Amino acid sequence: MKNILEFIKRSSTVFVLALFFVLFLNGNLPKTLQIEAFLVLLLSILVDIRNFNMFNRILDSNRKLQYIDELASAMRHSVKLKEVLELVMKNLTSELGYDRVLVFSFEHRGYKKDVLVPMAGLNMPMDRLENFYFKYDKAEDIVPKSAIDKKPYIVKNGREDHRCSQSFVELLDLEEYVVIPMISKSLIVGVLLADNRFNNRKIQESDLTPLAMFSNHGAMAIENARLYEKIEALAVTDGLTQVYNHRYFQDALKAELNRLERYSKEKSESVSLMMLDIDNFKKYNDIYGHQSGDAVLTEIGLILKGLSRKVDIVARYGGEEFVVMMPATPKEGAAIFAERVRAGIETYKFEMRDGQLLHVTVSVGVSTYSTDAKTPQALIELADKCLYRAKSEGKNRVCIS
Ligand code: GH3
Ligand code: MG
Ligand code: MG
Repeated sequence: MKNILEFIKRSSTVFVLALFFVLFLNGNLPKTLQIEAFLVLLLSILVDIRNFNMFNRILDSNRKLQYIDELASAMRHSVKLKEVLELVMKNLTSELGYDRVLVFSFEHRGYKKDVLVPMAGLNMPMDRLENFYFKYDKAEDIVPKSAIDKKPYIVKNGREDHRCSQSFVELLDLEEYVVIPMISKSLIVGVLLADNRFNNRKIQESDLTPLAMFSNHGAMAIENARLYEKIEALAVTDGLTQVYNHRYFQDALKAELNRLERYSKEKSESVSLMMLDIDNFKKYNDIYGHQSGDAVLTEIGLILKGLSRKVDIVARYGGEEFVVMMPATPKEGAAIFAERVRAGIETYKFEMRDGQLLHVTVSVGVSTYSTDAKTPQALIELADKCLYRAKSEGKNRVCIS
């Protein structure tokens, strides 16, 4: 409707009609001219019809340029993978007019182990796709075929197409759909799948050009976001043990206590801190070598991550000291956790490079916000003090503040 109004403003027919109307009102339209006037009007209508089609085509390509620009700008500005994916899918539905979109992500898992995993979808039953993936093999389905051939394909009827996996077609109730590889710097990033399940609009060969442009911009955006997330993860991770580093722990503790100070004054929510130091580690290093010591540290990081909850922050505090921040955990819960960690490490068999099995013990100190301390620094100092007490009382024990 808006287009039609915009066009009428530029229409020659309207001008001709207006002119005739004025002439008619003034009585200046002689009878002999009426046939010529009619021909002029007809001509202007024909010109307008031609112009109107052109006008629409220009508007359409303008819109397409606009969304590509929007994607490119998103590429520069959004570094979060989730945002980029949402933008890609939103543009595919609102601008290219598809009903449903599914983005597969290419995951490199080694020779003959690579897979395409559903990463995000719009109007797709994502719950049915949990644990679903395609092997990176042409014979599996047209989705991996599209990635391997680096070509888009339009499937006219999924149920009758031998290139399509029938279980997948059934899962998503697919009929006519298009798959297009997402390529960035000539490498496969993923595959886009789109269909018109609700409006049943036919997918044409001519749809492929804008779709290809679109999917390549999307691929680049996804690549950038992934790279950024990787760098971000590296900045907060301890290189040796792969748990969080000291700085991240300090920031997380500060943020958590701030949050509690601000928002949960009446609820007596607590945060517990566990500090752990390996007993006689210098001796292990001296006997078994520094590399074996490193392997023990890495393994302890894994044990801590394995025993803790998702919300806990496990970090390497320093050389052979670890901390675990436990949100919403009162002292009793933290004590149970600390004892589980201590006992777990005591009974764990650390395998050295020569196959020798080694036992290691740890001492642990625990402090709790807000009963013991109210600031991050005080909480850390208290846990450290408890750790020191555990050491002086004979090591391989937990001391609670
Ligand atoms: P304690 O029971 O009192 O803790 O005795 P300890 O020998 O563990 O003493 P301390 O905690 O003071 O010593 C820390 C030792 O940990 C010193 C160093 O040899 C070792 N260490 C620290 N960081 C690393 C590391 O990154 N790799 C290895 N292999 N060893 C480390
Ligand atoms: Mg130490
Ligand atoms: Mg030590």
